Amino acid sequence: MKKHVVLYKKLSPALLARLGDQVDVTYIEDPASDGLARLREALPQAHGLLGASLKLDAALLDLAPHLEAVSSVSVGVDNYDIADLTRRGVQLTNTPDVLTETTADTGFALILATARRVVELANLVRDGHWTASVGPTHFGTDVHGKTLGIIGMGRIGEALAQRGHFGFGMPVIYHSHSPKPAVDQRFGARHCGLDEFLQEADFICLTLPLTAETTGLIGARELELMGPDSIFINISRGKVVDEKALIHALQTGQIRAAGLDVFEREPLEPTSPLLTLDNVVATPHIGSATHETREAMARCAVDNLLAALRGDRPQNLVNP
Ligand code: NAP
Repeated sequence: MKKHVVLYKKLSPALLARLGDQVDVTYIEDPASDGLARLREALPQAHGLLGASLKLDAALLDLAPHLEAVSSVSVGVDNYDIADLTRRGVQLTNTPDVLTETTADTGFALILATARRVVELANLVRDGHWTASVGPTHFGTDVHGKTLGIIGMGRIGEALAQRGHFGFGMPVIYHSHSPKPAVDQRFGARHCGLDEFLQEADFICLTLPLTAETTGLIGARELELMGPDSIFINISRGKVVDEKALIHALQTGQIRAAGLDVFEREPLEPTSPLLTLDNVVATPHIGSATHETREAMARCAVDNLLAALRGDRPQNLVNP
């Protein structure tokens, strides 16, 4: 008899066929709201789950006594209690590597958009306010040659450093748990303590995971250490930053601008003060959102799940 998978992320027809070949599939759209009742109904039969952006809490897991594996279509695993899954004997997999370059592209898009005020000035043209050649009030600031600061020198951090160093001649500094000699050598980069890092970097880019340790890592004190010309970029997770303190720093000119792909609450409330600020570029969590990369992530997640349900070790096992 085929095993049963509850799918809560839309797959391409080819990937759905590949999955459906091996297992029975129940598809649930929007499991966090409209589909929640259907999800709860399907969990008692589930051997595997495949999806993203759903907080899988203990109450949901209690409904799934046959669960063997959860395959997340993401690299970040902050939606899961890994210790609890491990205790229940449930394997958790994610999709690293395939999204690294695309997410770094998003980071660099935000660096350029904030420094050169691309969204604000494109809107000025669109709104018919381009009536004369622009003057200093509309000037941006250079990206090339400025110091690129990266917090979390992992896969995505390194891909960002590569772009900054080779593409834009930027000195690279970073803050991570430990120095990375290979990164230092390749990009002439330097590992710093957090305070020194915040005072030195022109662009402060977050590329680290959300964990108990990183929640609220950037708050009022850290924002005060940044200078008035600093630009803050977050492509990691919203809760790494105290959003209220960030809004205050942006409103008062304590920092120059912010490029934000992630927020404390997503989707971002339309009433958020962030959306009233010209010095903010906000994108709807699009780090990995290209056709090619989302398909590669979904393929990776399908392969991880099928391997786990076959009894093989999945390539991207997260549990210790
Ligand atoms: P990764 O390779 O595991 O790199 C994460 C790095 O963060 C590690 O090198 C680690 O440093 C560092 N780190 C962890 N805790 C830290 C702390 N307290 N202080 C300083 N550095 C710390 O992960 P990745 O593949 O680059 O992905 C990083 C994160 O990006 C994901 O977890 C996800 O949340 C986010 N992401 C967002 C999007 C998006 O759509 N916006 C897309 C993809 C990923 P050490 O090596 O020194 O331990």
